[in-house]
Amino acid sequence: MSNTEGCVKCGSRRFYVIEKASVPHYEFSNSVKPFAIAAAYVEVGKPGFFGAKSERLSVGVEVQVCAKCRHIEFYASDLDVLKMFAESGEASVREVKR
Ligand SMILES: [Zn+2]
Repeated sequence: MSNTEGCVKCGSRRFYVIEKASVPHYEFSNSVKPFAIAAAYVEVGKPGFFGAKSERLSVGVEVQVCAKCRHIEFYASDLDVLKMFAESGEASVREVKR
């Protein structure tokens, strides 16, 4: 299913789109957390006086749900971050060619 095609299972063209998937927070009942498929605390930019600057990066998920048959498809939110994880070996990400 892409943005121009219908559902691969039933052909319906109606979908529910969740641009940033989230999950209930396991500790706080009134809170939700972003759902990520990969995340790491990595060094970014050039090291400064206090050393390297680190930042938490993650790859979220866009979800599309067929409004007729409930078929679900997932799309990674940020291929650039996924590529960087694969190149640096972070977050158990690796690229394979099939
Ligand atoms: Zn469907």
